Amino acid sequence: MPNIRFQALQAVLTRTIPETKAPSTKISDFFGANVFDIKKMKELLSKEAFNSIVNSIEKGETIPRDMAEQVATAMKSWALSKGATHYTHWFQPLTGTTAEKHDAFFEPTADGGAIEVFSGDALAQQEPDASSFPSGGIRNTFEARGYTAWDPSSPAFLMARTLCIPTVFVSYTGEALDYKVPLLKAVNALDKAAVDVCHYFDKGIEKVNASLGIEQEYFLVDIALFNARPDLYLTGRTLFGHMSAKNQQLEDHYFGSIPERVYAFMQDMETESLLLGIPLKTRHNEVAPSQFECAPIYEEINLAIDHNQLLMDLMDRIAKRHNFKVLLHEKPYAGINGSGKHNNWSMITNTGKNLLSPGKTPKNNLMFLTFFVNTIKAVYEHADLLRASIASVNNDHRLGANEAPPAIISIFLGSQLSELLDEIETSRISKKVKDEALLWQGIPKIPQILKDNTDRNRTSPFAFTGNKFELRAVGSSANSASPMTILNLIVADQLKKFKYDVDKLLKKGEKKDVALLIVIKKYIKESKNIRFEGNGYSDEWEKEAAQRGLSNFKTTPKALDAFISEKSEILYAENSVFTKREAHARHEILLEAFFKKLQIEARVIGELVMNVIIPCAIEYQSNLVASAKGLKDLGLDKSVYQVQLDIINKIAEHINFIKLNTDQMVAERKKANDIEDLREKAITYDEKVKSYFQPIRYHVDKLEQLVDDSLWPLPKFRELLFIK
Ligand code: ADP
Ligand code: MG
Repeated sequence: MPNIRFQALQAVLTRTIPETKAPSTKISDFFGANVFDIKKMKELLSKEAFNSIVNSIEKGETIPRDMAEQVATAMKSWALSKGATHYTHWFQPLTGTTAEKHDAFFEPTADGGAIEVFSGDALAQQEPDASSFPSGGIRNTFEARGYTAWDPSSPAFLMARTLCIPTVFVSYTGEALDYKVPLLKAVNALDKAAVDVCHYFDKGIEKVNASLGIEQEYFLVDIALFNARPDLYLTGRTLFGHMSAKNQQLEDHYFGSIPERVYAFMQDMETESLLLGIPLKTRHNEVAPSQFECAPIYEEINLAIDHNQLLMDLMDRIAKRHNFKVLLHEKPYAGINGSGKHNNWSMITNTGKNLLSPGKTPKNNLMFLTFFVNTIKAVYEHADLLRASIASVNNDHRLGANEAPPAIISIFLGSQLSELLDEIETSRISKKVKDEALLWQGIPKIPQILKDNTDRNRTSPFAFTGNKFELRAVGSSANSASPMTILNLIVADQLKKFKYDVDKLLKKGEKKDVALLIVIKKYIKESKNIRFEGNGYSDEWEKEAAQRGLSNFKTTPKALDAFISEKSEILYAENSVFTKREAHARHEILLEAFFKKLQIEARVIGELVMNVIIPCAIEYQSNLVASAKGLKDLGLDKSVYQVQLDIINKIAEHINFIKLNTDQMVAERKKANDIEDLREKAITYDEKVKSYFQPIRYHVDKLEQLVDDSLWPLPKFRELLFIK
C-alpha cells in the first residue's frame, strides 16, 4: 500500500469548500427555530398546561400527568410538522458525552395501518437498557435498570429528524447516574441560600439563578490527516510527533484572519447552533496554529451546560461535512497550547440583578461585597474539591504546563478589588453610629465601573472579570456540570454559613449593616491565602503557594481524593447534593476512566512503535546499509560513506532504546493491571506506566528527524497544523 501519509496529503490538496447556507442573514429570523421553547409552548399549549410548565421551571413543581399528556401531544405535532420521525430522551451519562436512544413515533394499528403516537408517559419517563453506562457499582448489570426523566427546565429540540428531550438519568434506587441530577440539586441549594442572604438587602427577591457563559476552545484538522494517525483517532491526541519548525512562536495565528475552509465550517456550525437556540456570538483564532474558539452569550446554568454538550456534538457532526475533525482533547499536540473551556459564572436574581456586579449605592456595594467575598471564601474552603472537579487524564497535560492555569487553585481579583479587600480588612468598623452613611467611614467605596475589568491575568485558574468569576481550569472536552456542581454547591454552603454568622450577631443586638460587615471582614481575613495577583505560571508561585499551605495536586488520581474526603462528605450531606454512595461511585468512575485511558494510550504506543515506527526506521536503515555497502564494494574510502554509517548507528541506538523501554512499559502495565484497588491502580498507571511515554516519544521524534521524509508514515506536525 502506498504511504498513507502521502495519500492523505493528496486528499487535503484537492479539497473544495462546501457551500454554506443560512436560512436568513438575519439571525433573529431563525434563532431557536428547532427548539420547542417557552414561546412555542405558550402558543401551542392550553393556559393550564403552559402554567404547569412555568411552575415546574420556576418552582420545581411536578407536572401533573394530564398536563404532561397535553405537552406531549403538542410537542409531537410540532416535531412532525418539522419532519421528525423519532424521539429520544437525551441525557448525560458519566462517560462525559451525551446519550440518546431513538424510538419511532409510529405504531402499527390493529387494521394493519399505522399512526404516530407520543404519550405523556413516553415524554416523562423512559427506561433505556443502559446497563453499559458507568455507574461505579451502583447498578449491577443484572439489575440494569436506569430511568431517564424529563427535565422541563431545558427545552426539547430537533436534531435532524429526531425530537430530543433533555432528561436526567437515575438508577432504579434513585441514585444519580448522570451529570444533571447533582447539578440541578446544587443550583437549587444555591438558589435557596442566595435568596436567604438577598433578603438582608431586598425582601422582594424570590429566586437566584446561576448564569454561565462557556468559552469553547478546539482544534481542527483535516479528516484525511486525522485518519492517517491512529494515535489521534484512538486517543484524541498525538502520542508522537516532532514539533514543527514553525509553531506558535510568531503568535501570528491569534485573532488572525480565519482561513477560508475553517470559516465555512464555523458558519455552518453557527447556523445549526442558532437553529437549536444556542446563542453563539463570538468566534476567533486561538493562540496555537489550527486552534479556534467560540463562545455563546451566557444563559441560565443548566441550559448553558446542555447547550455546550450539544455544541460539542454538533461541532463533530458538522466538521464531517467539511472534511474536518474537531479535536476537543485538552492537549492534542505536545509543545503548543492545549484547549480549555472557560466557565464564566455569576448569580442573577429574578429581579434582574447580577449579584457579582458592584452597585452604585453603598447598600448595593455591601450586597456585592457579600456575594463576592462569600464566593472567595467558598473557593478558599473547598479549593481541593474544585481542583478535583476539573481533574482528568487529559487535563493533567494542560494544567501547570505554562500555558494553562496551574493545578494550584488561587483567585485573581485585579488590583482595585484586591486593594479594597485589604482596606476593609484593616479598617475599623464603627458600631455606634446611627447614620448609615457614617458606617462607611474608613471603608472605601467600590467604584461602579472597575478599571481593571479587562485587566487580564490569564495565568489564574479563577479570576474575577468585572461582573463574573471565570473558572479557567476546566478542560476543553469536560462536561462543565462537574465543576459547576461543585462551585454552586460550595457557594451555597458558604452562604448558609454566612447567614448563620450574621444572624448570630443580629441576635446579639448588632445593627444589620454592622453585622454584615463584621462577618465580611472576618471572611476576607480568613480566605486571604487563596488570593494571588501575580504570575501563576512562575516557579516562584509554586514555592509561595506551598508556603501558604495551598494544595498542588499535579495529577488526577490524588487530586480526586477530595471527592470523598470527610470534609466533602459533610458538605454533600448538608446540602443534599450527593449521597455517600453516589460520591464514592463517581470517584470510582473517574479513577477507572483515568487508568483506562492511559492503558489505551500505552497500547497504542506499543503497537505504533512495533508495527509502524521501528519497521519504517529499519527500512531506511537498510537503504543506508545497501548504499554504504555499494560504495564500499566500489572500493571507495570509508569517508565517502561515513554519514551512512553514522545514521545507521544512530537509528540502531534509538530503536534499541524504544524497544527496551516499550517492553518495560508493557511489563509495568501488566503489573498495574493486577492491582485491585482502583486508586492505587490509577496512581501506578500515572507514576509507573505513563512515565515511559515521554522518553519513548523523545526517541521516536528523533527518528522522525533522521528518517527519509518519503518513508515516514505518520502525518507530521507541520502538516497537521498548517495544511488546510
Ligand atoms: P472574554 O473572557 O474572552 O473576554 P467575554 O468577557 O466576552 O469573553 O465573556 C465570555 C463569556 O462570559 C461569554 O459567554 C459571556 O456571555 C459570558 N458572561 C458575560 N457576563 C456574564 C455573567 N454575568 N455571568 C455569566 N457569564 C457571563
Ligand atoms: Mg474568558
